[in-house]
Amino acid sequence: MFSRKEIIDILNDDSKNDWLFSYADKIRKENVGNDVHLRGLIEFSNICKNSCKYCGLRKENTTIERYRIEKDEILEIAKNAVTMGYRTIVLQSGEDAFYSTDKMIEIIKGIKEFDVALTLSIGERSFEDYKAFRQAGADRYLIRIETTDRKLYEKMHPDMDFDNRIRCLEDLKKLGYEVGTGCLVGLPNQTIESLADDILFFKEIEADMVGIGPFIPHPQTPLKDKDKGSFTLALKVMALTRIMLPDINIPATTAMETLNPNGRIIALQSGANVVMPNVTSTQYRAKYEIYPNKICINDKPEKCRGCIGAKIESIGRKVATNYGFSHNKE
Ligand code: SAH
Repeated sequence: MFSRKEIIDILNDDSKNDWLFSYADKIRKENVGNDVHLRGLIEFSNICKNSCKYCGLRKENTTIERYRIEKDEILEIAKNAVTMGYRTIVLQSGEDAFYSTDKMIEIIKGIKEFDVALTLSIGERSFEDYKAFRQAGADRYLIRIETTDRKLYEKMHPDMDFDNRIRCLEDLKKLGYEVGTGCLVGLPNQTIESLADDILFFKEIEADMVGIGPFIPHPQTPLKDKDKGSFTLALKVMALTRIMLPDINIPATTAMETLNPNGRIIALQSGANVVMPNVTSTQYRAKYEIYPNKICINDKPEKCRGCIGAKIESIGRKVATNYGFSHNKE
């Protein structure tokens, strides 16, 4: 365990990176073992009412073709993923009110019939909605805090409220979800100190899962001319998160692979134990452009499953066959 000052010092000093990554890898192995959990990600709607400054799905972006996948097709995609061996389905979307409480309940119940764990990543909803989704069978929820620097948060999310984001995380905890959160690394004017605070925040709220990704500027957003986040710094924040929260689930994020062709494997060897391959049908993939140059946008779900499986085995790790609930719950 490190103090805030130690975390800041490590983030500022690149001379001990090799030590940091191998130490995080060791902690990962001792606490969550060699299994890699695959979560099949369905990006079911790119319609969003929000204006997050970094995100290509922000409502002001009129250049993307918007889509919604409805229940029957979502269930087909999920079923196909289950046939490929996925034991967790993740449903992700923009904040799209089309998916009413009742519509979501039907989709959740339908997916739970396939005997899989279900994660939702659909943004901020009311306590009542979260409760209804949990009762319908949802097991986990992902909602990144994005940054714990309140001022920066407000700048990045002009129509959102930091306290409501925190409220969501608290409600989800209360309702017994496994809660996933995380942050972006490399947002304009983000400080190293605030990244240290992000890590301490993950610990304070006892997150079950933490996803960390570098910021990638999208050409149709106000941040289009800003520098992209650093792959190495994102990897360091991830490795420190593993050391500070030894038994949680940590994904090797797609954004890391976008910045480094071997990014997910490097992340799996620096503290990560989860990968979230895309299982969405090929026709929708390019349209879910939260950032540019996303990987696998022309691939079929079967190809992604085979590709990542082979990569995992090539580093002497194993694809898990269980549901992959977080260790601090089991
Ligand atoms: N609407 C949902 C899902 C958001 S998309 C929600 O609010 O939780 C999932 C994640 O993509 C976001 O949490 C954000 O951290 C990340 N993301 C969005 N735009 C990005 C960008 N330009 N670069 C890197 N990551 C980005």
